[in-house]
Parts: sequence; structure tokens; C-alpha cells
Amino acid sequence: MKHKFLHKPRILLSALWDAKLQSYWMLPAYCELLMKLGAAPFILPLGYEAQELGAILDEYDGLLLCGGDDLNPALYGEAPHPELGRFYDPRDLQEIELLRAAMARKLPVFGICRGLQLINAALGGTLYQDLPSQFRSEVNHHMDEPYDRVSHEIQLSEDGLLAQLLETNHIGVNSCHHQGIKDLAEPLRCIARAADGLCEAAQGRDEDHYLLAVQWHPEFMHEKFAQSGTILTSFVHAAKAYREARS
Ligand code: MN
Repeated sequence: MKHKFLHKPRILLSALWDAKLQSYWMLPAYCELLMKLGAAPFILPLGYEAQELGAILDEYDGLLLCGGDDLNPALYGEAPHPELGRFYDPRDLQEIELLRAAMARKLPVFGICRGLQLINAALGGTLYQDLPSQFRSEVNHHMDEPYDRVSHEIQLSEDGLLAQLLETNHIGVNSCHHQGIKDLAEPLRCIARAADGLCEAAQGRDEDHYLLAVQWHPEFMHEKFAQSGTILTSFVHAAKAYREARS
């Protein structure tokens, strides 16, 4: 019987790329948090043909787009800024195809850090390529380790998913991002901002599709700050509901 062994919602994670080692990789914290919340994470290597990715997603109940390197600014029609960091086209392009296929299926999607930026760029938005030079701010968006600490506060939109889930209008978050959202893509709503105005979370406008992305790293905070676990729990619940609706 198909999938008899596994009743948990299956979450597909797009692998990170290590240019130095020429290797795929994954931070355990993403997987550990999903496991703790009752989901089963699976890591997808790069290198699939775009047209294969939809059929692959049909085997899963949710898509998690993780952190990592910068994005190629050509994705939003800009030339590289001198302070642009490393980027890797095969990862950018495969994740964009995964996002498109997930949206076509209304498969739940969660984005973390670069995941938020990828979703924004894929849907027509733009990024600050280098926050320190392009977005002057008193807010520390690039904290040092350890990451299980608050680096800055964010204000949550009252009618956004995060405020509804957490029943508050502000929380403290960690922050370790080189890039950030400049122009928000039309299919997204900004639902959290730092004190300097930078967008720190977005959700999709399509109310029938769970699409939520955050600029911080809940996977590093959830043990000390339960709110980060609550946010990911909503993703796992959406994946469970997606799985049940299909079976
Ligand atoms: Mn930040």
C-alpha cells in the first residue's frame, strides 16, 4: 500500500549549495524543528529538470524554502552590486520552479530568510542586494552567533497571519540576512516590519493557499521562544490538511 509506513505530513526541503565543497548541504535545525512538530522532512537535491518538479511535489504535503546565499539580481532585472555575495543559479532556478509548481497545486509553502527573498523575487518583487550599503538602518539585521537571541523587534500587521497566530502585534526575532525585500511582489502582503520599515514577513494574497515566509530564523529560536515553534506548527497543520484533502 502506498505510503503505508508514514502518516506524517511530508515536507520537502530544497538543499543548500556549498560552493567550496561543491556539495549539497542542509542545516539540521530545519529538519529537527519539523520532526519535533510531527512532520517528516525530506531533502531534495539540485539538478532536476523543471518539468519533473511538479510530479515530485505530488509526493509531498509541503515545501520549505530555506536560507542560504544571495540571489542572482538578474532574477529581478538588476546588474550585480559590488557588495553582492555568492549566488548559485541552479539553486535559484530550481527553487523558483518548485515555488511555481507548489502554487499551481496550492501546496503549502513556508520560506525562511533567503526563502522569503526567493519567493519575492520569483513573484516579481525586488531585493536590496546589500543591506548595509543600500538600506541604512540602526537595526541590526546581521547579528553574530548564537542565533537563539533577539536581534530586533518586529511589528506585526493586525490582519496578518502572524498576528492572528501569535495573538500579539510585536515579537522579537533573530536576524542574519545580507539581503532584504525592496519592492514587494504583487501576489504578497507584507505582514511584519522592523522599526526601520524593512519587511520581515509576507504571506500570499490567495486565501486558499498557505504561503508564509519570514526573514528571520525560527529554527534557531524555537527552544527559547515558543512563538517561532507556533509559526512552524501552522505550516505543519496546513501540510496535514493538504494531505488529508488529497487522500
Ligand atoms: Mn532582520
